[in-house]
Amino acid sequence: MIPLCVPNISGNEGRYLAECVSSTFVSTIGPFVSRFETMVAEAAGTQGAVATSAGTTALHAALIAVGVQRDDLVICPALTFIASANAISHTGATPWLFDVDPASWTLDPALLSRELAEETQRHDGQIFHAKTGRRVSAIVPVFTLGIPADMDPILATAREYGLKVVVDGAAALGALYKGRKSGALGADLTMYSFNGNKTTTAGGGGAVAGDSDAVLAHFRHLTTTGRVGTDYDHDVVAFNYRMTNLQAAVGCAQMERLDEFVAAKRRIAARYEEGFRGLNGIGPFPDPEYATSPAWFSGFAFQGEDGGEKSRALRAYLREKSIDARPFWKPMHDQKPYASAPRTKMPVTDTLWRGVVTLPCSTHLTRAEQDKVIETVLEWFESSAL
Ligand SMILES: *Cc1c(COP(=O)(O)O)cnc(C)c1O
Repeated sequence: MIPLCVPNISGNEGRYLAECVSSTFVSTIGPFVSRFETMVAEAAGTQGAVATSAGTTALHAALIAVGVQRDDLVICPALTFIASANAISHTGATPWLFDVDPASWTLDPALLSRELAEETQRHDGQIFHAKTGRRVSAIVPVFTLGIPADMDPILATAREYGLKVVVDGAAALGALYKGRKSGALGADLTMYSFNGNKTTTAGGGGAVAGDSDAVLAHFRHLTTTGRVGTDYDHDVVAFNYRMTNLQAAVGCAQMERLDEFVAAKRRIAARYEEGFRGLNGIGPFPDPEYATSPAWFSGFAFQGEDGGEKSRALRAYLREKSIDARPFWKPMHDQKPYASAPRTKMPVTDTLWRGVVTLPCSTHLTRAEQDKVIETVLEWFESSAL
């Protein structure tokens, strides 16, 4: 089977892990954690970064760090991995689900500004959702497929309404927005994931990056049990969300190769695009003119009402030929836990998501393997046109 997207572990991972073991620093303190945080900050374009046990835990603690409270609403696109909505729910808040922009597959700046104008009211300097009476405290733009949302207008709207912005940039390392790195766009904090299917992995793990020392210090405090000093004093109900030195050892070896991995991902995406140019009824993954995609995943989207059936049929055909191809995120308003979350109308998300097909895109995918994928996809198009 040619896998969809598996880790490329062929650098210093083994050597760094052996160093970890022989040093006995395998747990939550150790030199690899600090080195990893420096590398993430550099790649994000920020002053600092704090590593965590997962992207989901990073997002949870980040929302609390910027002031999200129980019973708030937090704006988030419906088209995302469920971790974004879950992190919001874990704070006691509820996601307010938004349709996406067809150009970026994420938060639509025009819809954001229109909904806030029409659906909220201001009391004592705070913003309240008229229908539910809940306070709106933050926005979580998701960088779908690693591609930045159109952050300038989103941040302008956030400032107008006094809302915090925490980016779910889980797969965004290597992306650019108007030439700027993905953490340096003006959000309060930007989350990254180092889960096994991301471009660089720590086995599992996450981080936030930001430019405010105070916010990063508060975040670190929340993710390290809220400890004050060394005598078991704690000043807040906090979390044990730290990354271990073992995870960071793998993460450092991976981050050394970030540029190489992103270049490989882009090369793979470009070859697929070339291979499928001219096929009818499909559209490429988004490529907004303001952004440089890190091409986390490759694939395309069937357009039209029968996109879901076509995607399913093609995926089944590829699996028969030992090629792993998958669907994409099922949106939050179609998920049981979020069946009653407030939402906008969803014309874009509802037609888009079912048609998506993701194709093998591991950074060490060979040309021969990719040729096989392309030929097999073309074969299916020919046979299904009969
Ligand atoms: C991978 C991913 C996450 C979750 O990260 P974990 O490290 O697996 O907790 C969250 N949001 C998005 C968009 C992701 O792709």
